[in-house]
Amino acid sequence: MASTTPIKQSPSAGGRLNPLDLFDVRAELSDEERMVADTVARFVDEQVLPIIRDAFEKHYFPRELISQVAELGLLGSSIDGYDCAGLNSICYGLICQELERGDSGLRSFVSVQSSLVMYPIHAFGSEEQRQRWLPAMAKGDAIGCFGLTEPHGGSDPGNMKTHAKKDGGDWLLTGSKMWITNGSIADAAVVWAMTDEGVRGFIVEKDMPGFTAQEIENKFSLRASVTAALFFDNVRVPAENMLPGVLGLKGPLSCLTQARYGITWGVIGAAQACLDESLNYAGDRVLFGRPLTHNQSVQQRLANMARRITTAQLLSLHLGRLKDRGTLSPTQVSLAKWNNCRAALDIARDARDLLGGSGISAEYVPVRHMLNLESVITYEGTETIHQLVVGKELTGINAF
Ligand SMILES: Cc1cc2nc3c(=O)[nH]c(=O)nc-3n(C[C@H](O)[C@H](O)[C@H](O)COP(=O)(O)OP(=O)(O)OC[C@H]3O[C@@H](n4cnc5c(N)ncnc54)[C@H](O)[C@@H]3O)c2cc1C
Repeated sequence: MASTTPIKQSPSAGGRLNPLDLFDVRAELSDEERMVADTVARFVDEQVLPIIRDAFEKHYFPRELISQVAELGLLGSSIDGYDCAGLNSICYGLICQELERGDSGLRSFVSVQSSLVMYPIHAFGSEEQRQRWLPAMAKGDAIGCFGLTEPHGGSDPGNMKTHAKKDGGDWLLTGSKMWITNGSIADAAVVWAMTDEGVRGFIVEKDMPGFTAQEIENKFSLRASVTAALFFDNVRVPAENMLPGVLGLKGPLSCLTQARYGITWGVIGAAQACLDESLNYAGDRVLFGRPLTHNQSVQQRLANMARRITTAQLLSLHLGRLKDRGTLSPTQVSLAKWNNCRAALDIARDARDLLGGSGISAEYVPVRHMLNLESVITYEGTETIHQLVVGKELTGINAF
């Protein structure tokens, strides 16, 4: 099993570099950022790693972790006020990184709650909506989900079929959403629907008549996370549940920029766990009379993993500083989401192979991370979609 040592130490003069942080990104962090990373790392080591394999194998989300992540202030951590921690973007990134070192499913839970539910309520909601939902969501007393993707094609959200019509003071919502994280455990769904005015966001509550959520069973990826289909059959949504502060696709797309930013950090954690496991395994495994690590081709593979992790760390760190300065562009997030997810998935696949037959066993982390990362590279915009975003920036031509 991988060692569970969080990445704490900076290199001492003349000593070896930290294999999981070759460029000493840790030294670039403030005391507060380091403290957040260490606190979450400890939580992951003590509370997540001991149970996550069982949750993944048995295909359930370990709900007992919700109150613990809430107590640590990890839900809506970037929001100021409303019982939220008000941390900067680097802290949010480090939270995602350490959680995903545990499992992408837990990081997905926190990403959705924070970036896709609490963020739009905070940014686009009425004061009443903020007061009602944000403190409860920060405490983990209310769970949220985000409904954008529809069964006929998530990459093209402009072709939205779910619609809402005004009926007196209320709205009537009809349609369906697919692949919704937290969907069947959510108390409230932020649902995006087409109206006569354009796309609008609605807070749909779990007991509203006509609203049903059905868990998607038998996933081979993100098994320690709940994914559901949502159905809306003429759901009567009161006017006060509409998000008044945004109209058009820029509403959901701005939420995705927040969540994708966190993903760029999260996948680094999964990749670090795979490199850590590979180093331990290859150091112990004796073949042809010497440990695997004595072979040039094995060292090249390990070095390649470290190179890609380092590149991803530097991208995310810079992205976070840009975000905190308020100059971040969605294209920059797309490039980093593409780069970092691809790097992490390739690392997980290579780590799986380096472990030979053991690589397919749940006793070792690479195969679980590898399977999870197949979702992470697909959701929040597939790799192709992010490449096309960058292509559009370069050429000015929309090739979607
Ligand atoms: C585990 C999981 C959790 C998720 N959670 C959520 C959630 O909480 N909320 C939510 O709203 N959604 C969620 N999603 C949905 C996710 O965002 C979508 O799956 C994703 O956007 C892709 O949409 P799709 O699956 O419909 O694939 P499609 O859009 O049908 O794409 C199919 C393929 O076509 C490619 N493609 C698309 N357009 C082009 C083009 N112009 N040129 C070339 N190739 C193209 C894609 O890259 C992909 O390879 C989740 C998905 C998963 C798997």
